[in-house]
Amino acid sequence: MTKRFLMAEMTSPEFAERIKAGDLVIIPTGTTEQHGPHLPLGVDFMLPQAMALDIASQVGGVVTPPVNFGYKSMPRSGGGPFFPGTIGVDGATLSHLIRDVIRELARHGVRKICILDGNYENLWFLNEGVDLAYRELAESDIKIMVLQHWEFIADETFSSVFPDGFPGIELEHAAVLETSLMMHYYPDLVREDKIPDNPPAVSGPYDVWPPHKEWVPQSGALISAKGASAEKGRLIANQVGNDIVGAIKREFGIRGT
Ligand SMILES: [Zn+2]
Repeated sequence: MTKRFLMAEMTSPEFAERIKAGDLVIIPTGTTEQHGPHLPLGVDFMLPQAMALDIASQVGGVVTPPVNFGYKSMPRSGGGPFFPGTIGVDGATLSHLIRDVIRELARHGVRKICILDGNYENLWFLNEGVDLAYRELAESDIKIMVLQHWEFIADETFSSVFPDGFPGIELEHAAVLETSLMMHYYPDLVREDKIPDNPPAVSGPYDVWPPHKEWVPQSGALISAKGASAEKGRLIANQVGNDIVGAIKREFGIRGT
């Protein structure tokens, strides 16, 4: 029988066996949010889910169902709430959900957890959830790692993907990185004829309420996504995947598969 990696496809005894063997558990997190006219609403949790599956197959891990609602998209980083389909939750809701999921995994004996996130705004609320859980579980030998996949992109990869210079991660919403990764992992879901080519978003170095709608380009992409390709997606996915596997093996003392 082929080895399974998705927790949702495992039976309870199969999951128990994997945890008994000391397997790492990866929780993909993201949100449901507009990603321009060319990408689906699920990008931010679908990419971590696909990456988590790649990683789990290399380190022998288990991937939980994704956390598919996340912290609110802001005008400066994700287009904000102006577009149909964007669903943001309060920071405390996300933190408490993560705390509770870790608590439950720990109750079943899980001691190695990696949260693999795909929504920029989630980070500190995920960290808060982990910290709340860790406060209760520090006596156990639990170890929890939190990461956002684009933090692993190496300088050489940036140079290959952006031959004319990288415009900066804060504009990378529904743009070249996410579009390329989607073309690699989910080619059928990218509407290639609708890839936007707008100039970069212009906003102030601050947030304000009520939010400025004019800070967000009409396309919903914060900069042109025209340079995207499946080949670039494969390059990013392979380099980032390898480096995340390396970091996980280092942190959790995992050797081989
Ligand atoms: Zn995104």
